[in-house]
Amino acid sequence: MKLDLQLFAVPARRVSKTAKRARRTHLKKDAPTVVTCKQCGNPIAPHRACTKCGYYKGKQVVKTEETENK
Ligand SMILES: [Zn+2]
Repeated sequence: MKLDLQLFAVPARRVSKTAKRARRTHLKKDAPTVVTCKQCGNPIAPHRACTKCGYYKGKQVVKTEETENK
């Protein structure tokens, strides 16, 4: 089925406050995904090395201040 409709730019004054606000209800930021490090329990971003202990997938991959003093 082909829709025979054209979309035009609509002047700002032709869109009511309510219509504008209703459209923007879907525009929102969602909270970032946080997982906990299996090594130290620090909250970290998924698929990233831990910023505290430098571990990723059970191995140390990055040197951090905490691990360098050991
Ligand atoms: Zn960690």
